[in-house]
Amino acid sequence: MSRFWSPVVHTLTPYVPGEQPKILNLVKLNTNENPYGPSPRAFEALRAEAADTLRLYPDPNADRLKEAVAAYYGVEARQVFVGNGSDEVLAHAFQGLLRHAAPVLFPDVTYSFYPVYCGLYGVDYETVPLDADFAIDVKDYARPNGGIIFPNPNAPTGRLLPIEAVERLVQANPDSVVVVDEAYVDFGGESAIPLVQRYPNLLVVQTFSKSRSLAGLRVGFAVGDAALIEGLERIKNSFNSYPLDRFAIAGAVAALEDRAWFEQTRSAIMRSRDALVVQLQRLGFEVLPSTANFVFARHPRHDAAHLQRQLRERAIIVRHFRQPRIEQFLRITIGTEAECAALVEALKVIL
Ligand SMILES: *Cc1c(COP(=O)(O)O)cnc(C)c1O
Repeated sequence: MSRFWSPVVHTLTPYVPGEQPKILNLVKLNTNENPYGPSPRAFEALRAEAADTLRLYPDPNADRLKEAVAAYYGVEARQVFVGNGSDEVLAHAFQGLLRHAAPVLFPDVTYSFYPVYCGLYGVDYETVPLDADFAIDVKDYARPNGGIIFPNPNAPTGRLLPIEAVERLVQANPDSVVVVDEAYVDFGGESAIPLVQRYPNLLVVQTFSKSRSLAGLRVGFAVGDAALIEGLERIKNSFNSYPLDRFAIAGAVAALEDRAWFEQTRSAIMRSRDALVVQLQRLGFEVLPSTANFVFARHPRHDAAHLQRQLRERAIIVRHFRQPRIEQFLRITIGTEAECAALVEALKVIL
C-alpha cells in the first residue's frame, strides 16, 4: 500500500499465474505449456533476427504476421489483430468491445483473467453457471448482455462447445460481441474463424503459446470483422505502438509456416492425452472429456489439495484452484510420454 497509488490501484485484484518454479528436473504440468519446444524453423528465424537491425523499431503493425495469419485462415489482413500474447488481445477486447451499459457474460468456471480485466477496465459482468456436467449451455446466455466471452474448449475444464452451438450463440446475440477464446482449439476442436465472414459480432482469439509452443515469445491474435479489428487497433495505438518486437514477429511467422512440426507435435499431445485419460480412470479418477492439452480430473476418495501437495513432494507440479465447484479437481497439463508416465507412477504410490 502506498499513498502514491492512484485510487484504482487499491481496488484491483490481479491475476495470479501458475508458478514458474526455479527447480531443476521438475515435471512441470501446471501452466499448459507445450512439452515439445518450438519449430526448428522458428529458432532459425529468431537467430537471423539477432542482428544490427535491432537498433530499429519493429513494424508497429506487424504486417508480415497479420498477412501470414490471414493467409493461413483464408481471411484478409485487415480482419487480423495481433498482440503481446492473447492476454493482451483479450484485454483490448474487454476495453474496446465489451465495455457497455449491460453486463458482459462468461461462465462461472472459466479463465480467471476475465474478471480481472473487468476490474481493471470497470466492465460490469455476470457469471453464467456451467451445467451439472461442467458444459456450457447456450440457452443460459439468453439474457440482456453487453457481450459474451468464453474459452473454447473451456479452461480449466477442457470441455468443447460444438461449433453449431457457438454459431447459435453468435446468431442469438446480434447486438453484442461474442468473443471465443480459442487458446486450446488446435488440440481437437474446430475453430470458429470461418464464421467471422458471416457474423460481424464474432471475434475469435488465438495464441502461439500452446499449440505452437511459443509461450515465452508472447504472441496472440484475433480474427473478426474489419470493424471489430479497427476498434482493437484504436485501443492498441492509444496504449503501445510496438507490442510485438522483431523476434516475436519473425518467430511467429516461421512457426506458422512449419505445418509439419505443428501437426506432429499436436498429434503427439492428443495421443498422450487420450492415453493419460484411460490411466487416470483406471486409478479411479473422474476425468472430464478434454479437447485441450490438459485434463481436469477429480478422485472420489482423495482430496485434490492433498494430492497436489503429495505430487509436489515428488517434484511434479499440477494446478489446483481453490474455487467453488472445482476445489476437488486437479488440472494436469499433458507433458511428454515420459512425464505422463512419471505422473501416473507417482499417483499409484500416493493412492
Ligand atoms: C493460456 C491462455 C491464454 C493466454 O495466452 P497467452 O497468449 O500466453 O497470453 C488465454 N486464454 C486462455 C483460456 C488460456 O488458457
